[in-house]
Amino acid sequence: MVTRINIKELESGGLKIKGLELTVGKFTEFDEWAEPMGPTPYPSLMDLREWDLRLLERYPPFYSPLSDFCEFCTYGKCDLTAGKRGACGIDMAGHMGKWVLLQTVMGTSAHTTHAHHLLNFLIKQYGPDQPINLGGEVEIEAPITRLITGIRPKKLSDLVDVVNYLEGQITHLLSATATGQEQNYLDYESKALHAGMLDILALEVADIAQISALGFPKGDAETPFIEVGMGVVEREKPVILCIGHNVAPGSEVIDYLNETGLYGKVEVAGVCCTASDLARFSSGAKIVGPISRQLRFIRMGIADVVIVDQECVRADVIEEATKVGSRVIATSDQLVGGLPNYTNIDDDIVVSRLVSGEELAVVIQDPVKVGRVAVKAARLIAPLRLNQKGYNRNEIVAKAAACSLCLSCTKNCPIGINVGLAVNTAKRGDQSLLLEVFDECLGCARCDAACPNDIPVLTVIDAASEDKIRNERFKIRAGRGPIKDTEIRNVGRPIVMGEIPGVVVFAGCANYPGGNYDLAKMADEFAKRRYIVVTSGCSALDIARYKDENGQTLYEKYPGAFDAGCIVNLGPCVSNAHAVGAVVKIASIFAKRNLRGNFEEIADYILNRIGAVAIAWGAQHQKAMSIATGANRFGIPVILGPQGVKYRRAYLGRSEDYERWLVYNAKDGRRVYVGPTPEHLLCVVETAEEAMVTAAKLVMRPNDTPKGRMIKLSNYVSLHRQFYGGLPEDLHLFVRDENDLPITMKDEILTLIKQKGWKPTEIPDPTLLSRMIFGGR
Ligand code: SF4
Ligand code: SF4
Repeated sequence: MVTRINIKELESGGLKIKGLELTVGKFTEFDEWAEPMGPTPYPSLMDLREWDLRLLERYPPFYSPLSDFCEFCTYGKCDLTAGKRGACGIDMAGHMGKWVLLQTVMGTSAHTTHAHHLLNFLIKQYGPDQPINLGGEVEIEAPITRLITGIRPKKLSDLVDVVNYLEGQITHLLSATATGQEQNYLDYESKALHAGMLDILALEVADIAQISALGFPKGDAETPFIEVGMGVVEREKPVILCIGHNVAPGSEVIDYLNETGLYGKVEVAGVCCTASDLARFSSGAKIVGPISRQLRFIRMGIADVVIVDQECVRADVIEEATKVGSRVIATSDQLVGGLPNYTNIDDDIVVSRLVSGEELAVVIQDPVKVGRVAVKAARLIAPLRLNQKGYNRNEIVAKAAACSLCLSCTKNCPIGINVGLAVNTAKRGDQSLLLEVFDECLGCARCDAACPNDIPVLTVIDAASEDKIRNERFKIRAGRGPIKDTEIRNVGRPIVMGEIPGVVVFAGCANYPGGNYDLAKMADEFAKRRYIVVTSGCSALDIARYKDENGQTLYEKYPGAFDAGCIVNLGPCVSNAHAVGAVVKIASIFAKRNLRGNFEEIADYILNRIGAVAIAWGAQHQKAMSIATGANRFGIPVILGPQGVKYRRAYLGRSEDYERWLVYNAKDGRRVYVGPTPEHLLCVVETAEEAMVTAAKLVMRPNDTPKGRMIKLSNYVSLHRQFYGGLPEDLHLFVRDENDLPITMKDEILTLIKQKGWKPTEIPDPTLLSRMIFGGR
């Protein structure tokens, strides 16, 4: 934590100083940034607590505990049912708040170590003075960093302070979870919101550093199309597969191939976010797919060398890869997998041991060395492994002969696929059910572990589907990174006024049956309705795995600008920062609000005026929890898909509770009812249809103009009619006066809402902050 002291003007002993800024512990250069410092630069755990408590008062946490017991310490296990307290004195709400905070801190720390490693590497390679440069049309290059820390980073080394701040805050947050520390559930939630906000900051640091140093696209709407799918890799060539999130080792592989004239002679492919980043680095890199493709591609044996870095790497990848003769290089101190450390061993020795099989998997923590070793080893190993690439279909399907139809695999399938029946049917020569299973299967391999006859069930499914796999090829636009300031100037006003009905962001990993289809269906519907649709991370890849009746993916069908009716692929998970950054920039560029160290005011602006909503689909881990919680602190509602209930906490508004929906009218300080806009901050839905209707509702904001609210209501009503038939029952809560009503439905809606006792309300200049009354004067 650093403390800053600003001295506007000082005259002493004939010495006159103007605009001096001091940071306790060290001096910073004079900053010519004209924007005044806001109230909360580098906020601590307490600095934004009042904002959190306002949010939590309106959107109280709803918990669905996994168990009635707490086993966090050796006092336990403690029964927390029916208001009982544990031996440490904690109650169930406190216990759940602690659980939520732990999950969120896990996610935030993963993204922070990612930013840390990447930044250290880029500074080493490109120097501390490498400029932060996101292109000529992005002047607000780091909106989240400006907002939270109060600094305007100009070069890579400026981001070091930000990472130090993140790591310090994470230590404080984690310490609050120790027994005997925090006890109040709302304060646990406030800390979780703090962790979530830090997560978004870590994402921005990682992405602006890599965009600046590695020459990634800088907000270009028309980035190149990249191939995605298990069929895109040319298996006849040596193949290097990168798994995880840190692009550094993979980018060094490509650099080494370029330096040695080998580019194009070795395939470089990726799974998960590393794949998205490699595609931003080089249009020749191939994207195999999201996490659901990880184990399946590994088992096919196509990769000669597998590089794992950090995050989203399956815990059995090293074992599975070496089983099929692939060699593995682990590159991050977050994941060393019990392997020997070869970082300081001569390249030739490492390569010869990998090729001979003396070592099948090693740790190398220097990305440049990884680049050299991976290429050399892959070229030598590939000719020796030709017969290990792809499946021996007959042999694998023959394994199905051992099936006794005990259905143990079916019972252990997390999504209830009757895989046992499919295997047993294949035993009799009919593989049609296996082909059906292929499309639904998550690739988790729980069925393998359950089979008493040691049938590699997942491999049987995939072997039967090898033709499908070979033809699995789709197109995605490479991630574009930031939203340009010029785009914000064009859409800021229509978004704030509600005339563009909303910004819908798809994040997360849709790894459950039909998840990619659900995502594509939703993205298509919102783009058709002229929302701005934004994708990132594995969701962006999942959306690409669906083609319409014309054989096009949505990225081919819609333009990639940040505008109504477009679909923007930001890039990997860390690019989620640009979605939040875009709404922050609307407050700055359109509304001329100061960003510098001014979190609360900007979050209040977003909550009350910018119709943005995120949809996180599929089963995900702690990082999705931290991203969603971060978006919430910024005032952005998040909808979780059917698996989201497993996060065990939602922030739900009570729509009929009048008092909760009072805001200040900044013009005169009166308290004014604005209806449940937005109704929830974090909620769970069961189906894609429910998600669409909910999103159309959650983009409504108190500040919508009558024309804007009319457009939003029109979409809400028509989506509700399309999927459920009839008008929504809660329509009366969102109509302020008759001018809000869609003209073609006016009489029908008026009749309904009058039956509900509807009365007109006013449209204020809304804020939750009393200090913003009279514009903060
Ligand atoms: S690998 Fe597929 S079929 Fe097997 S348990 Fe997982 S989801 Fe079910
Ligand atoms: S667990 Fe094995 S033996 Fe039992 S039904 Fe599944 S594949 Fe057949």
